Amino acid sequence: MHDFHKIDLGEGSTMTFVQGDITRQTTDAIVNAANSTLMGGGGVDGAIHRAGGPAILEECKKIVAGQGHLPPGEAVSSTGGRLLAAFVIHTVGPIWRGGLHGESGLLANAYRNSLRLADRLGLHNVAFPAISTGAYGYPPAEAALIAIESVVDALREARNIREARFVLFDRASLDVFLQAALAVAHRRKATWRLDHITGSTGANQ
Ligand code: ADP
Repeated sequence: MHDFHKIDLGEGSTMTFVQGDITRQTTDAIVNAANSTLMGGGGVDGAIHRAGGPAILEECKKIVAGQGHLPPGEAVSSTGGRLLAAFVIHTVGPIWRGGLHGESGLLANAYRNSLRLADRLGLHNVAFPAISTGAYGYPPAEAALIAIESVVDALREARNIREARFVLFDRASLDVFLQAALAVAHRRKATWRLDHITGSTGANQ
C-alpha cells in the first residue's frame, strides 16, 4: 500500500497524487500517454492496451480511420475495455526537443484537453500519468509544473470533474509532482492544504 496525497482546491475540487500503476485505478477514466498513430506502443500506452484488451485498439483504429492521426496536445476517448475505468482518454504529449519548440504549450494542451473531454463525458474523476516524461524525454520537474498548472485551471472550469489524480510510477516521480504542487501553490499565493494519508490508497495499487 502506498501513501495518498490530496490537495483541496476549494469549490469541491481536489487534486490527488499516488504512486502506482495507472491501469489499476478505479477512476471513471484514465489518460493514456499515446502516440499519434493510436496503435499502442511502449510505456504506459502498452500497459493500458495489455490490461484493457483488444476493444481499446479496435476503437482507436476507427478513430484514426475517421480523423487521421491525433496531433500532439489533442485528446480522444475510447472504451476502457477490461479496465476498471470505463473510459481511456488518449492524448499525445510533445516529444522533448530542447524546450524551444512549443513543448510546454503542447503539454499543457494535452492535460487541458484530456480533462475537458472527461468533463464533457460527464465523468467525476480522471487519472493522469506523467505525460511525455518517459520515452518522449520531457524533463520531469518542468513537466510536473506544467501538468499541475494546466490541471488546476481546467478543474476550475469543469462542471463534472471533481478529482484529478496523478499516478506516478515511482517514488522519485511522486516526489517531483508533490514539489511542483507546492511550487505552484507558492507562485499563485494559494492556501492549498496538502493532506498526506499514510498507508491509505483511495486507489488500487
Ligand atoms: P511518453 O511517451 O509520453 O513519454 P511513457 O509511457 O514512455 O510516455 O512514459 C510516461 C510516464 O509514465 C513515465 O514517467 C513512465 O515511468 C510512466 N509509466 C509507465 N508505465 C506506467 C504505468 N503502468 N502506470 C503509471 N505510469 C507509468
